[in-house]
Amino acid sequence: VILAAESRTRFLAPQGWQGQIYAGEGWSPGAGPTLEVFDKSSGERIAEVGTADAADVARAAAAASKAQPGWAAMPAGQRREIFIRATELIAENHDELAEWLIRETGGIRHKVEFELFKSRENLLQAAATTTRSLGEILPSHPGELSLARRVPRGVVGVITPWNFPLVLALRTLAPALATGNAVVLKPNPHTPITGGLLLARLFEEAGLPAGVLQVLPGDAEVGEAIVIDPGTSMISFTGSTSVGRKVAVACAPLLKKCVLELGGNNAYIVLDDADVDAASSAGAWAAFLHQGQVCMTAGKHIVHRSIADAYAEKLAVRAEALRVGDPSREDVHLGPIVNQTQIDRVQSIVDDSVAAGAVVVTGGRHEGPFFTPTVLHKVTTDMPAFTKEIFGPVAPIIVADSDEEAVALANTGEYGLTAAVRSSSESRAAAIADRLRSGVIHVNDQTVAYETWAPFGGMGASGNGDAFGGPADIDAFTEWQWTTRRAEQTTYPF
Ligand code: NAD
Repeated sequence: VILAAESRTRFLAPQGWQGQIYAGEGWSPGAGPTLEVFDKSSGERIAEVGTADAADVARAAAAASKAQPGWAAMPAGQRREIFIRATELIAENHDELAEWLIRETGGIRHKVEFELFKSRENLLQAAATTTRSLGEILPSHPGELSLARRVPRGVVGVITPWNFPLVLALRTLAPALATGNAVVLKPNPHTPITGGLLLARLFEEAGLPAGVLQVLPGDAEVGEAIVIDPGTSMISFTGSTSVGRKVAVACAPLLKKCVLELGGNNAYIVLDDADVDAASSAGAWAAFLHQGQVCMTAGKHIVHRSIADAYAEKLAVRAEALRVGDPSREDVHLGPIVNQTQIDRVQSIVDDSVAAGAVVVTGGRHEGPFFTPTVLHKVTTDMPAFTKEIFGPVAPIIVADSDEEAVALANTGEYGLTAAVRSSSESRAAAIADRLRSGVIHVNDQTVAYETWAPFGGMGASGNGDAFGGPADIDAFTEWQWTTRRAEQTTYPF
């Protein structure tokens, strides 16, 4: 294990977790095969982690079920302290955690700083959630107290992706824990450390009672076992639409609630009266941040015909100014694509679209894992660059002749995660925004934005209508219970 030798590795010193999973009452050897973890830029092996098998999942879910009632009953002020301590631990170990995130996710320093900042925000938000009121007093009979209250769902199975592994796990497990649930977490096998074992260490150090959090690295089979295990009462899944569908199908016969946060192909609409220079700046950010490996990436730049060429040109100038390389060795704007399968996929979407008539204004190639920021002009609705979620640094430009056509293009396809509209007329842009089928919409901004207190969730094939964040957390992780109580015992006519 390379990082073990580095003195700056303290909080995540591998001797604490190497070959282990965080199941049952704490660290224990996983029964699944060992999983190698690679630096996404250099391909260097940086660690080996343990993985779970189906029996580990059953053991973990049983331990979580056992620990959950005690956790829910713990005084709110004490539970809040644990989230505050976890927030402090991220700050205290910031440099070490940043290093792991850069190497394991291939993120540039800016992305990693953002992820750590939003992770702390999630924990602070969860701290506040522990002291929220969770119900209402209902009208009732004299002498009777009638309460509508929100109670924890029990054990939440959390399954997460690799692109923002730390914050996307915290986005769901922090509010799930804060509302009194236990959690069984399975990170993506590409990021089992920053998406999983790091969280086990964090909550272990912060004083979360044993058993309340279980962390089980593993592959799809471990995910499937978590979904169907009778010990998990709900599933929170973040990942691709195709896997999300499988999770929904597995939950259906079990009548198990699932919250699905899935893929996107997000519309970025630039109207003819928009400031083209500003639009190209925001468009470059939305297209190229984290190599386009963001669910909120601007996937369709829908630009009015009169300014489309100027927009393409300005976006290309910005793309060409971006440096691409290994973020742990140099100061770059874009790091590597996560793996070879994904590189091949991005390249084939670009090549197939070009073969169908799209024009490469800049980019279109990769060297090793580093894909050059790419601007594709003259994209049409039949091309894969328009129909697919690319998940790479590619900005497809589609021309629209009217506001009506821009709305139609934005609403084409099954996704509905985020969207943005730009115009010098706020009311004109807002009128378009009101017609978009999208869970998140920004006027005069771009598609990539996240606040821990705002409800975030996709429509259509981007989710199943649930969301996380602020008020949505209570809906997601608790359920209604009606309860009455009175001092006198009742009698009835027969
Ligand atoms: P993925 O669907 O391949 O994997 C997600 C998780 O599901 C992983 O942990 C994986 O091991 C697990 N898994 C795979 N098969 C499973 C099965 N049959 N049962 C249960 N679990 C299973 O997605 P990914 O490649 O990790 O992430 C990229 C995708 O995630 C993109 O489509 C992106 O848009 C989406 N995403 C969405 C959001 C959002 O908030 N909507 C956020 C980030 C990423």
